[in-house]
Amino acid sequence: MSDKSHYSVLVIGSGPAGSTAAIYTSRANLETIVLEGRQPGGQLTITTDVENFPGFEKGIMGPELVAEMKKQAERFGAKYVWDFVTEVDTTKRPFTVTCEENTYTCDSIIIASGATARTLGLPNENDMMGFGVSACATCDGFFFKEKEIVVVGGGDSAMEEAVYLTKFAAKVSILHRREELRASKIMQDRAMNNEKIEFVWNTVVEDIRGSQEEGLTGLKIKNTKTGEVSEFKTQGLFFAIGHVPNTDIFKDKLNMDESGYIITKPDSTKTNIDGIFAAGDVQDSVFRQAITAAGSGCMAAIEAERFLES
Ligand code: NAP
Repeated sequence: MSDKSHYSVLVIGSGPAGSTAAIYTSRANLETIVLEGRQPGGQLTITTDVENFPGFEKGIMGPELVAEMKKQAERFGAKYVWDFVTEVDTTKRPFTVTCEENTYTCDSIIIASGATARTLGLPNENDMMGFGVSACATCDGFFFKEKEIVVVGGGDSAMEEAVYLTKFAAKVSILHRREELRASKIMQDRAMNNEKIEFVWNTVVEDIRGSQEEGLTGLKIKNTKTGEVSEFKTQGLFFAIGHVPNTDIFKDKLNMDESGYIITKPDSTKTNIDGIFAAGDVQDSVFRQAITAAGSGCMAAIEAERFLES
């Protein structure tokens, strides 16, 4: 809960993009509020070691990194509030931002609401979430000690999650719909050199076997080349198939691409509405790194500052 309702800068989201923006705007003496969202700290809070954020020779844990960023922003006066935005009136300034708990007005908005893990949309997927199905290896890996599990995906996330899961599981099978990985060479090598990991190529999951009572018992899978359908015995299913940007509240208000990523002007974080900026994974479907999110958060803050000055 915040004691006031009007801010110069309102930041939606508290991952690296949001917190970097807040560090810059609050340090520039702009009254800044950060609405933390349902997952305070963002996706880094469900990751383990971050090895590629400059300044941490030995790496840093994701949750620790975002916690430090938050403290740094708070040191300059940024106000962090747990609230979830349900509606934004972008038609007039000051902008009105309605949340589950409170309503705020602000002179500028920095959207840094990030992205959410994508799932396959299988028939009983939602029922089985937490009963053998997961979209977060670091959250749930612990529950799969000595079990045989499947990771779906062929990108860096799939490799990272599979390697992480070998800390617990007896065996991890990476099911990928093609026979070529999208993941970077270094991540591929880590997975391929791990003796607990096997690859199942050209394969998609069609159904989940099991129930909440008995847990996950297997998968119905299909070979994308031969069309052959078969059963695959496994006790866990982890999705690592990318992310969807959290931009629903801006639908029909801001320009977006066909996947829902907010379109920003070239070399800028400006959206199609003056005073509204977008930073991090909501506008970046390409790089999606903590450091690029932080970088665009910085850009958004500087652009918001210039906008407010003018
Ligand atoms: P991604 O690169 O978009 O990869 C998603 C993977 O899931 C792809 O292999 C894709 O298959 C597969 N996929 C998507 N939809 C599917 C479906 N419906 N059914 C089956 N498979 C499906 O996503 P990501 O791995 O989450 O990575 C996102 C970004 O974060 C990337 O830029 C990545 O480099 C970065 N990242 C970096 C690190 C690191 O460096 N430590 C760790 C994690 C993520 P196709 O290949 O056939 O399209």
